[in-house]
Amino acid sequence: MSPNDAAALRLYAADLHVHVGRSEDGRLVKVSSPASMTLRSVLETARSAKGLDVVAVVDGHSPAVRDDVQRLLDMGKLAVDGGVLSYHGLGLILGSEVEAHVGGKRVHLVVLFPDLAAADDFARLVRPRVSNPVLSTPLWPASWTVLADWANEAGGLFFPAHIFTPYRGLLAAGLAAARPVLERSAAVELGLSADTEMANDLADLASLGFLSNSDAHSPDRIAREFNVFALARPTVDELALAVRGVDGRRVVANYGLDPALGKYHRTWCANCGHINTGPPPQTACELCGSARVVLGVKDRVALLASTGTAGSAGEKPPTTRPPYIHQVPLLDIPGLGKKTYRRLLESFGSERVALHAAPAGMLAAVCGQELATKIMAVRQAQVRISPGGGGHWGRMMW
Ligand SMILES: [Zn+2]
Ligand SMILES: [Zn+2]
Ligand SMILES: [Zn+2]
Repeated sequence: MSPNDAAALRLYAADLHVHVGRSEDGRLVKVSSPASMTLRSVLETARSAKGLDVVAVVDGHSPAVRDDVQRLLDMGKLAVDGGVLSYHGLGLILGSEVEAHVGGKRVHLVVLFPDLAAADDFARLVRPRVSNPVLSTPLWPASWTVLADWANEAGGLFFPAHIFTPYRGLLAAGLAAARPVLERSAAVELGLSADTEMANDLADLASLGFLSNSDAHSPDRIAREFNVFALARPTVDELALAVRGVDGRRVVANYGLDPALGKYHRTWCANCGHINTGPPPQTACELCGSARVVLGVKDRVALLASTGTAGSAGEKPPTTRPPYIHQVPLLDIPGLGKKTYRRLLESFGSERVALHAAPAGMLAAVCGQELATKIMAVRQAQVRISPGGGGHWGRMMW
């Protein structure tokens, strides 16, 4: 097949940032995850409930996770199909989220591994340098450039995670500190409190692909954000082409929360608890005037846009971006419980189909008119939202 043969490309729905909570033998990988978040349950939920084609587990440096991969391979539940790890048709990519120092801040960086040999090589790099290599998101003691160099040499995909969030987001380190990392990245992960429209305000991001991933710590959070890619195969080298838009490979669409629902969307006051709603940037509380605030993502973008060197404040760089389609996980819709959720999955095959494709009449037949109306309102972005901030999720107003 010629690399330019666009007809041979197909669409893959992929969530490239998911955590495992425990290994099958009970070893703790991510402290904040429920015990049910094993590699098996990640794969099963991503494939059958969420309707994804690819999932990337970013605890691939952990010997507990690697052992579970090996066990699934030995049992024949995972197969290596043309260099791709496949779980009953779902592509599994291993990667690692690492906490590294950038500009005096700790920020989260992700490396996706091209294959199992590279995963093992990366684990050998990380394990002797971190205090507990079994745990998720280890603190990396050396320069972040070692990670970028490794990714470059191994054919991995390197990108900063949830770049705008006040804690561990790259841009919280400031643009000057962030630029060397951006220059080594092909893409950035927008995070739950931002979307393409917001990120387009930053000229520094103009040449980078945008990723929307769930950063799920529990099974029901998988695919709350995901990407649709056009690829020849669901591999890391194809993803690297796609985020750059090379040879027809591309990001076709990003799916994610309305950023106003994100828990760091707007500036929050640590003094009185108010979440600001005025025009960004808001750097002090609009109620009590306190400057003890957690800066919102929208406010950070506005601040950075006004101080960025390339382009001028508020002027969008001339980039054509794939659409960013807002969604709300079914279980976050008020009144929609687990029983109804299961009925919707049985009727439509996956949450993706129920949320984005199922006809209104059929939805109503399965879950009643009221819930069907809510699902359609979410699909058509017709829900008013009281924005989140300071770690508090935004709320939908019905
Ligand atoms: Zn993170
Ligand atoms: Zn994460
Ligand atoms: Zn206040």
